[in-house]
Amino acid sequence: MEGTSATDNIRSHRGVKIKVFYRNCSTSRTSLRGSAGCYGGKIHEGQIVIHKDLKDSIRKVFQRILKETDFPFTGVIPINLFSWNHSMRFNNSAAFDWRLVSNSSEVSDHSFDAAIDVNPLINPWMKKGARNRNYDPKRKGTLDAASAVAKIFKEEGWKWGGDWKHSKDWQHFYRPEIPVPPSAPSRSLGT
Ligand SMILES: [Zn+2]
Repeated sequence: MEGTSATDNIRSHRGVKIKVFYRNCSTSRTSLRGSAGCYGGKIHEGQIVIHKDLKDSIRKVFQRILKETDFPFTGVIPINLFSWNHSMRFNNSAAFDWRLVSNSSEVSDHSFDAAIDVNPLINPWMKKGARNRNYDPKRKGTLDAASAVAKIFKEEGWKWGGDWKHSKDWQHFYRPEIPVPPSAPSRSLGT
């Protein structure tokens, strides 16, 4: 019998690495406590590992964000150069990451290159009505219902965790139409 390990799936996943450009913002746990929260503003080149069918879409999303908004990203670096925890702590935005949904045996859309997290430290997953001291919609780089960035993602065909009813995953944009590889365990709606 052949088993399917996370390693097999990482090896066989179809993600492609593309370049994107973004306005930079330095945000860390330390600077979150300062009043500025986000500073910088230079244009940086980043990389995203994404499903091949989504590369044109994500490129267009980043082009529109740069052109139409002053929204800053802290970093856009493939997560395999970090661990997820380090990436999150750095507020790094990334797409592909082989992982299970928290407290579940189902795999995340990130495992299929079909989701991206935007500034995840300051755009956390939150239960409805809960508070999170890292989440301040007034801080630059933060997403809320009025966010131009969320509007751009949705206009380009992405679903958003900020639209969920029972919880909000402010960082999470995803494409449920991307099929799960046949070898993979079942997928789940999640971060
Ligand atoms: Zn996510």
